[in-house]
Amino acid sequence: MEGALLPDLIFSGGRVRIGEALSFANGQVTGVGPAPAGAERLPRTAILPGLVSAHSHAFQRAIRGRTEHRGGHAEPSFWGWRGAMYSAAERLSPDDVVRVSRMCFLEMARTGITAVGEFHYLHRDPEGRPYSDPNLLSREVIRAAREVGLRIALLRVAYRRAGFQASEDRRQRRFIEPLEEYLTNLRGLAAAVRADPLVSVGAAPHSVRACPAPDIEAIAGEAGARGWPLHLHVAEQPAEVEQCRAEYGLTPVQLLDRVGALGERTTAVHAVHLTPDDVALLGKARATVCACPTTERDLGDGTVPADALLGAGARISLGTDSQVEIAPLGDARALEHHLRLARLERAVLDDGGEVQGLGARLYGFASAGGMRSLGIAGGALAPGEPADFVVVDLDDPSIVGAGADDLMAAVVFSMERTAVRDVYVAGEQVVQGREVRVPGVPGGAATVVREFREAMGRLWGGLR
Ligand SMILES: [Zn+2]
Repeated sequence: MEGALLPDLIFSGGRVRIGEALSFANGQVTGVGPAPAGAERLPRTAILPGLVSAHSHAFQRAIRGRTEHRGGHAEPSFWGWRGAMYSAAERLSPDDVVRVSRMCFLEMARTGITAVGEFHYLHRDPEGRPYSDPNLLSREVIRAAREVGLRIALLRVAYRRAGFQASEDRRQRRFIEPLEEYLTNLRGLAAAVRADPLVSVGAAPHSVRACPAPDIEAIAGEAGARGWPLHLHVAEQPAEVEQCRAEYGLTPVQLLDRVGALGERTTAVHAVHLTPDDVALLGKARATVCACPTTERDLGDGTVPADALLGAGARISLGTDSQVEIAPLGDARALEHHLRLARLERAVLDDGGEVQGLGARLYGFASAGGMRSLGIAGGALAPGEPADFVVVDLDDPSIVGAGADDLMAAVVFSMERTAVRDVYVAGEQVVQGREVRVPGVPGGAATVVREFREAMGRLWGGLR
């Protein structure tokens, strides 16, 4: 599809422009500048780059609302939450995986997310046996994203063991694959998705807890040779750091450095509990840290030291992770807000002092930062980049009155999803007038919602 749209304002190349049109063709931006003849006028709107959830577990949408209590067998900690998450992971059929993922991706589209990095570790059947196609569930998640219209990087997870010197945990039987089998399956998946330019893959050793050091080294080597992004959960919980020190005498970040897994293509997800040496290593490597603040506060993980990380040279991306909220701008503002509470200061991540410099910077983490983390060029609406963008209603109550000088601060700190009017991915309209179109599913969004509700009824019982 090709076209040219003329909003009042457009955020392109790091600044807000007035009265310039966005032109696109064959899925890419072809220009930002004076309106060509025939450009469609979009009065009282702004065009912004598409948002990116660089760390998502779509299936965890199924446990929303079921973990916010202390009762029963749930410990009031991350580890208790994980038990509830496993109870869903153990039971989802391939059809449930599609239904739950599609609902999650539909909500993402509604918030302005155009690309998702799906950190996918459900590989085997409920008994722990490989499906006849060992990439079945990866492919089903990809199908769900593509039916909704999102761009997806499937970060196929290597899960090798229960934990540091831990015995087998039956609840993880759907995740675990032998190393060679994992690499073969990831190579197979990469080959299978090559035909769709909106689908890519990445390698994802789950964590230093769930992947022994030699395996991380082997997977990082393969990712480096093939140009794949490398994503890992890193230092989310203090116990993980303590146990890593006990097994290796190193922090998780030091261990990644030791095995050659820290580089520009590396994304350390969470990176909450870091030493000054860890921060320096991530910065020196120009690695990305993917912060997931709405999840991190829900799980009681802690605060990502983004100020120190950026100061050291690391990059930042953002993820919706557990889907407790799907609010990419909520994550962008929480990254800053959590630091304000911790440091007792305002505008902690502002590096320039201009009215909307901080807003623009945080928006960049949620857009270009995410694309970079997934190994996809783009996120700034420059010519040659993917035509992934959001049309925002400037008369929405949450941002009305914003102008070119304060738009990005208003958007990041105050905009509600009701302001997201249209969303385009590779030049194709995915959201039109606040409705997700879902052209790939008969009945569209209503079918996605109904089928998800039915799946939740089967999983949890009761009237839904
Ligand atoms: Zn995660």
